Amino acid sequence: MFDRFIPPKRILMGPGPTNVPESVLSALGAPTVGHLDPSFMTLMDEIKVMLQTVFNTQNQLTMPISAPGSAGMESCFVNLVEPGDEVLVGVNGVFGGRMVENVRRLGGKAIVVESPWGQAITPQQIATALDQHPKVKIVAFVHAETSTGVLSDAEGICKEAQSRSLLTIVDMVTSLAGVEVNVDDWGIDAAYSGSQKCLACVPGLSPVTFSDKAIEVIKNRKTEVTSWFLDKTLVMAYWGNNAERGGARSYHHTAPVNALYALHESLRLLLNEGLTASWTRHRNAHLALVAGIESMGLNMLVDIEHRLPQLNTIKVPANINEAQVRNDLLQEQGLEIGAGLGSLAGKVWRIGLMGPNATIERVTICLDHFSQALAKQGFDIDINKASTQARKMHSSLQ
Ligand SMILES: *Cc1c(COP(=O)(O)O)cnc(C)c1O
Repeated sequence: MFDRFIPPKRILMGPGPTNVPESVLSALGAPTVGHLDPSFMTLMDEIKVMLQTVFNTQNQLTMPISAPGSAGMESCFVNLVEPGDEVLVGVNGVFGGRMVENVRRLGGKAIVVESPWGQAITPQQIATALDQHPKVKIVAFVHAETSTGVLSDAEGICKEAQSRSLLTIVDMVTSLAGVEVNVDDWGIDAAYSGSQKCLACVPGLSPVTFSDKAIEVIKNRKTEVTSWFLDKTLVMAYWGNNAERGGARSYHHTAPVNALYALHESLRLLLNEGLTASWTRHRNAHLALVAGIESMGLNMLVDIEHRLPQLNTIKVPANINEAQVRNDLLQEQGLEIGAGLGSLAGKVWRIGLMGPNATIERVTICLDHFSQALAKQGFDIDINKASTQARKMHSSLQ
């Protein structure tokens, strides 16, 4: 009755998901084993160690949540926020707004520190707000705002929280593996990411990490965690090595076994390349893209010091139909780029350079197709100029 679904071939250069390497896809297709199979326990242990390496942390409570990045976000808030708690939230785009919503639904009080979309949340803003609100328990913000292409100074913001002995919750969905992430050195207490961005795995998993200090706070809660599924103390019976029970693991929920094969493979590829090499590759691809974009006379939304390499926001020039360009790229080239969200809708494009797409080859393919789509609307450009400039820039980088 129904035909088997065959997805079209796409180059995914939007805000995520990104393209998934062949070996990760084939790992996903290996035979399913039981979620308590001894072989699977070995895989889980390796995933934990690999995630600790990628997050740069010794945190014991480091594991993937069996759900997308949004569930990673909820797991941090639902475990750490109790009714009446004051949470300072940095908001400079869509995802900071969702943090506020999490705090509100948990009966906490969100104190919002706002920056215009396209600008960063600064340590100075956070320090000033904390001086005005001495009862704050947690500072929460988005390291890499995918909705605008802004990278905030996570180290500086966390320093302000640490100097006042506050907890921190950091959204690292898009930052992890694309730019430097240093959970322990920066003093982060809870962080979450997503499998489908720079980790280049299939969507649907959210790596999280909680510090010992965060675990103490969870253990000393006055009220029960309102989510059964995301309650860290319960899920650790499955993901943790329960010392009292001889390292035994017990059923909490059926893990997405095959998706975890894929995560294992994507983490293995990342660590084989090396974290620093991955950050450099993302940065170099970004600098090449920007050189190409600027050579066409287009402008980036974000100031140079706050640009996020893996998500590039480009201003739509006058007299160009933004949606038509995206539509041409998708229909004619199978190339997906992102639209602007909220107040930036219709005003910017978002080009993602995540995982395997953070290469000069993908950057030049994108620039060539993008130039053609603009030329089709009468935009005055020399079709090959952008990719030539991008290559020139790229070969000048280390
Ligand atoms: C994508 C994203 C999320 C949400 O992740 P999902 O996997 O879509 O639930 C959260 N925060 C940021 C910064 C993101 O880019």
